[in-house]
Amino acid sequence: MFEFLKKKISDFTEKITGTVKKPADGSSPEKANSEVKMQPEIAQADKDKIEAPEEAAAGNAVGEKFFAEEALYDEAMQEKEILHEPLGTPAGAKPDNENKLPGMKGQEKRALKAKAGITEAVKGLVLGKVRVREEDVSEFFYELELALLEGDVEQETAGNIVSEMKAGIIGKEIPAGGNLGEALKKEIRSALAKTMETGSIDLWGMIEARKPFVILFLGPNGAGKTTSIAKIAYALRQRGKDVVLAAGDTFRAASIEQLGEHANRIGVKLIKQAYGADPAAVAFDAIAAAKAKNADVVLIDSAGRQETNKNLMQELRKIERVAKPDLKIYVGESYSGQSLLGMAEEFDREIGIDAFVLTKIDADAKGGTAISLLYKLKKPILFVGVGQEYKDLAEFSPEFIIDRII
Ligand code: GDP
Repeated sequence: MFEFLKKKISDFTEKITGTVKKPADGSSPEKANSEVKMQPEIAQADKDKIEAPEEAAAGNAVGEKFFAEEALYDEAMQEKEILHEPLGTPAGAKPDNENKLPGMKGQEKRALKAKAGITEAVKGLVLGKVRVREEDVSEFFYELELALLEGDVEQETAGNIVSEMKAGIIGKEIPAGGNLGEALKKEIRSALAKTMETGSIDLWGMIEARKPFVILFLGPNGAGKTTSIAKIAYALRQRGKDVVLAAGDTFRAASIEQLGEHANRIGVKLIKQAYGADPAAVAFDAIAAAKAKNADVVLIDSAGRQETNKNLMQELRKIERVAKPDLKIYVGESYSGQSLLGMAEEFDREIGIDAFVLTKIDADAKGGTAISLLYKLKKPILFVGVGQEYKDLAEFSPEFIIDRII
């Protein structure tokens, strides 16, 4: 389940942690400089430290003093109305603002620069933090975005995850060394959580509050609608609820028998008519039966065609008018990616969807569909199907995915 995204995200954090490094113990700036990309302020500072070992030693001893000096330096720079020279300027190159330091001798300037560099480095050493810059990591973000797309995450959704992560990481001070990986993971968790934010539905609470509670299930054939209805009926029986099933798919051969078999095994009542009958009438009968026997919940199956069409939508609208369901749940397959999004959007436009059941995620190595569905449709996934048995139904929250891929 979701192995692909898990691997890609772990590659991403490992690459960044391996690249954006700084001396964790403060002992060997040269070592840090050997890393591919270092924050240039720190790289420059390390260089300056070598040029000015006394200040560096003092800096190591009293970090606090240097914070104060940095403030003084900033003040001095402001007073002289000079621009900060890009600190990554190669050694020996004449900085652009050389001429903007009237009245300051080269030596003084170098001293100021050295102090600025040292204080940055010391600050890093004392606080054990690095500042991640966009150019250090943009390549990785690009790779991550591609990986998300490959992992069935829809384009806008992938873009949103990446921008949430950038907002959380770039320009921020992040603990260096071993903690950097953890900090990155925290940001990824938070970006995913924000992307998957939807309103929530307290199904069990709603069922307690209204009797009979009526749920209409929608979705294409083969997605696992009948199986999911059976699983939910089973879960409700486990909670001591009395359930009536309505065989509202009067179109697909064998669907009535299939639901009937589940009803027998689980020990719930099935209301059915002949194939070709009006599914709205079946739903009406089921609700009447539930009221008569004081049942708690009515679960209405409905027909699904692989391609949605006008007749189907009319049929579903009629069921909706007659049954007035408390919830309309769309059942879709986890690994059907973009086609699921397209269909769910159409059903939502035509009928209105309140929530989802996402099936077969046990067979989905990617997992991006769930993330995209939540981001694009902004409706909660109530359950995920994790196998073919009645018990293979898990209550869903975004952590279900987050915990499995990070
Ligand atoms: P329907 O046409 O939408 O009613 O689909 P069915 O309920 O008949 O399911 C189609 C197939 O998918 C059946 O073989 C089910 O056993 C299988 N199925 C349904 N849900 C899951 C699930 O969560 N995991 C797995 N592995 N198979 C499932």
